[in-house]
Amino acid sequence: MSEGLRGRRVAVIGAGPVGLEAAARFAEAGASVTLLEQGLVGEAVAAWGHVRLFSPWKMNCGPSGLRLLGALPAEAEAFPTGAAFVADYLHPLAAALRLRGVEIVEKSQVVAVGRQTLLKGEAIGAVGDRRREQAIFRLIVDGPATERVLTADIVIDATGTWSQPNWLGRGGLPAPGERLAAAFLTRHLPDVVGAARKRFDFGRVAVVGGGYSAATAIAALVELRAAGGAAELHWVLRDPSPSYARFEDDPLTGRDALSARMNEVLRGEAGVTIHAGCEVEALSISAQRVNLSLTDGAGAEHLLPGCSEVICATGYRPDLELCRELQVHLCYASEGPMKLAAAMLAAGGAGGDCLAQESPGAEVLRSPEPNFFVVGAKSYGRGSAFLLGMGYEQVEQVVGLCGG
Ligand SMILES: Cc1cc2nc3c(=O)[nH]c(=O)nc-3n(C[C@H](O)[C@H](O)[C@H](O)COP(=O)(O)OP(=O)(O)OC[C@H]3O[C@@H](n4cnc5c(N)ncnc54)[C@H](O)[C@@H]3O)c2cc1C
Repeated sequence: MSEGLRGRRVAVIGAGPVGLEAAARFAEAGASVTLLEQGLVGEAVAAWGHVRLFSPWKMNCGPSGLRLLGALPAEAEAFPTGAAFVADYLHPLAAALRLRGVEIVEKSQVVAVGRQTLLKGEAIGAVGDRRREQAIFRLIVDGPATERVLTADIVIDATGTWSQPNWLGRGGLPAPGERLAAAFLTRHLPDVVGAARKRFDFGRVAVVGGGYSAATAIAALVELRAAGGAAELHWVLRDPSPSYARFEDDPLTGRDALSARMNEVLRGEAGVTIHAGCEVEALSISAQRVNLSLTDGAGAEHLLPGCSEVICATGYRPDLELCRELQVHLCYASEGPMKLAAAMLAAGGAGGDCLAQESPGAEVLRSPEPNFFVVGAKSYGRGSAFLLGMGYEQVEQVVGLCGG
C-alpha cells in the first residue's frame, strides 16, 4: 500500500462506474475517500438501464473494482443491459467499498468546488505561486438533508454529462419555443418498448440527432411499430447524407448490428420519414401537439406539424458550473480539460472507431489547478467517444500523479 496517499482526504464526485473505480483505487492506495452522489449509486446508468451496452462485461469493470469483488459478475463476453450493470456490478461494488471504509453519500449534490482560502484569480501556479497546492478544497454539498461544507486534499470530478443534455435548436442553441415545449420533449433515451410504451405507440414521433442514441431510439420505435404500434416516425438529422460507419470484424457486435439496421432504415423503411440535412429552427404548440419548423441545407424552411413526442438525441455537455471557481483550463470547443482535448485532437479528433483510441498518457490529465482531476465521460467534454476502459485507465493514472 502506498504511503504517499495515506491520510490524504479524497472527495470523489459522482458514483457512476468511473467514480466508483476512483473511490476503490484511492482507498486501495490508503487514502480516506468520500464519494458524493446526487442521486443513487449508478444513477445515470440506471436511467438508461433498458439499453444493452455495446461492450462486454470484461470491458465494463475496472481493475480495482474487480480486485475488491474478486471476479466478474457474469460471463466475460456477454453484454449486460445498463440495469444489469448497475445491479450486478455497481451496487455490489458500492457495498464492498462501504465495508472497506469508503464513505458513500447518496442524494448529495455537489453544487460548487473551490479553495477554502483562495479565490479563482489568486495564486497562479504558472507564475510560480505554489499556494494552491497547500490550500485545501472546499466543496458545497446539497443534501441529503441540508447544505454543508466538505473539505478535501484531492478532488476527482467524475460527474459524467448525462445530467446536461444539449439543446435541440440550430447552432446548438435553444430553438425559439423549445423551452415552452418542454412537456413534449424527451431529453433522455426513453424505454420505448417497455415502461414508456404508451407514449410512443401512436401519433407522430420525431427523433432529432444522428448518433448512437438516436439510432437506439429509432431501433426501438421501429421494433414497436413491428409489434403493432401505430406511430408515424420522423427522423431529423443534420447530415445531408447520413450513414452509420461499420468496422471490419467489429468485436462490438451490438454496435455493428445497430449500424447495419440503421443504414437500412436510412435507405427507406415503411413508416419512417427521413429529414436529412435538416435542423430545428423553432417549435410551437397548437392543438396539444408540438410543431417543428425545420431548416434544410439550402436554408428553406418546412414544417413538421402535430408531433405527439419529440426525442432529443442531440448529445450531452459537461456541467462547468461545478468547477467555475477553480483554475481549470478547458477546451473552447469540447469543454473537456484542455490538455486531454488537445491530445485527442492531435490523435485525429472525434469520429472513427472509439475502440481504436489510445490513452494519451497521465500528464494530459493535469490542469493548472493542482490535485483536481476530471475523469470519466466528463473528461471528453461534449465528445461522445468515451469508453469505460479509458476512464478506468485515467483513474490509475491520476492515482499515480497524486503519489499513489
Ligand atoms: C446509452 C448509453 C450507452 C453507453 N454504452 C456504453 C458501452 O457500451 N460501453 C462503454 O464503455 N461506454 C458506454 N457508454 C458511455 C459511458 O461509458 C457511460 O456514459 C458511463 O456511464 C460513463 O461513466 P461515468 O462514471 O464517467 O459517468 P456517469 O455514469 O454519467 O456517472 C456520473 C454520476 O455523477 C453523478 N453526478 C452528476 N453531477 C453530480 C453532482 N454535481 N454531485 C454529485 N453527483 C453528481 C450522476 O448522478 C452520476 O451518477 C454509454 C453511454 C450511454 C449514454
